Order: sequence, then C-alpha cells, then structure tokens
Amino acid sequence: MKAARGMVVSMHYTLTDDSSDVLDSNRGGEPFSYLHGHNNIIPGLEKALEGAQTGFKSKVTVAPRDGYGETNADAVFEAPREHFPPDMKLEVGARVHADGPNGPITLTVVKLTDTGAVLDANHPLAGKTLHFDVEITGVRAATAEELAHGHVHGEGGHHH
Ligand code: ZN
Repeated sequence: MKAARGMVVSMHYTLTDDSSDVLDSNRGGEPFSYLHGHNNIIPGLEKALEGAQTGFKSKVTVAPRDGYGETNADAVFEAPREHFPPDMKLEVGARVHADGPNGPITLTVVKLTDTGAVLDANHPLAGKTLHFDVEITGVRAATAEELAHGHVHGEGGHHH
C-alpha cells in the first residue's frame, strides 16, 4: 500500500534543526501514525511522503513556509502581570494557554520585565528549517471512523 489521502501512515522519525540538534525523535519507541491528506502533519513532510511504502527511508528538508510558518514579529508582545493567573509562576520558557481569534493558542514566556512578561505566540518551530530523517514502518487504509474524525485511532494515534 502507498501513502495517499485516507491512508494511515506510521513512521519513525528524527527531527533536527540547521545545527543538527535533535528537536524531536520517536526512534526506539512506538511509531507515530497520522492520517494522510488530513492536515495531521506539516505540509512539507506530508508532500514528501506521498506514495511512500513500508520501508521507505528518506531525509526530508522542510522550509518554514511548508512547516510551522515564518516567525511573525507581531506575535511577540508584552503583557502586564495582571493578565496572568495570580498563582502562575512567571518564568522564561513557561507556556501560557489563551483564547486566540481562531481557537486556543499556546504562548511562550520569552522574557520577564518589571511589570510583566514578553510573550511569543509563534509556534516554537516557526521560522526554522526542519530536517526529518524518516522511515515508514506501515501503511494501511483508515477505518470509516478514523476518516470521520480526521485522525488516527489506536496504536500511535488518538485513544478515546
Ligand atoms: Zn477520533
């Protein structure tokens, strides 16, 4: 079977940045599974896996525009202390969940100031060129339920 829209693709991958620092990897663990053609993964990687079969190995480089987007300078702003929950410990690297115009967003505290903190609403991987070393471990047809939900169930996917 080949990776195509409506197929469940399982893989092992290692993600590195331009400095060859490992950002994420699931080697040595359970394969990661996604539903092809349903925006489950970034477009640049999905496109590179189109038509791939079990055993397919590849190094895939994804530019920011095909990954998590370019860094948006307008998404970095200062917020006063009273905008944070009173019991929250403000520290650099802390993640803050908020309601954005298109649904829930996660912001990262990037700097503390005298009156609050500077937040960055960019995805942590925005602006980065991503290097994936992937190996496809399985390709199967999705179930009707998975297609209806738009994501994978069971091993390597959603449990609910
Ligand atoms: Zn589901």
